[in-house]
Amino acid sequence: MSLRIACLCGKIAVDLQGSPVARANCHCASCRDFYGTSIWSAPAWQADSVRMAEGTGHVFKHPHKQLSRTFCGDCGEVLFGTNRLGMRVVPNSMVARATGGTLDAAHAPTMHLFYRHRIVDAQDDLPRYLDGWDGPTWEAS
Ligand SMILES: [Zn+2]
Ligand SMILES: [Zn+2]
Repeated sequence: MSLRIACLCGKIAVDLQGSPVARANCHCASCRDFYGTSIWSAPAWQADSVRMAEGTGHVFKHPHKQLSRTFCGDCGEVLFGTNRLGMRVVPNSMVARATGGTLDAAHAPTMHLFYRHRIVDAQDDLPRYLDGWDGPTWEAS
C-alpha cells in the first residue's frame, strides 16, 4: 500500500508506504510551537516508509530540540516532521488532501497525547493521555 502526498504548489511529493506506527493528536507545546498549530495531528511513521518522490525539501532544525521539519521552499507547506526518535510525522491534512478530503480508518487518530498541555479541548471519545501513552489518562471532573 502506497500513498503519494504533495504540497499545495505540487513541487514536492512524498510517498508513504505501509501504515503509520502510531496515530496521535499531540497537544504538547513543542509541537504546537514548531508546527504553528493548536493540535498537531500527524501520525508517526518509520523513516524509511516516508520517501521523497519529487522535488527537494528544505529542512529546518529546531534551534535546541531534536526536531526538524521538511517543507517546500516555494509554497512553504510542511510535508513531514522528524521527531527525536527519528520517526517521520506526516500531517493528516496532507493525507486527507491525497484521499479526497477525508481520512480513512488506517490514518485516523486513535488517541490524544500530552492532553494536560492542551489549549483547545478534544471533541471526540478517543483516550486522552495526560502525557505519553504509557501514563495516566485525563478524567473529566
Ligand atoms: Zn510547494
Ligand atoms: Zn507533541
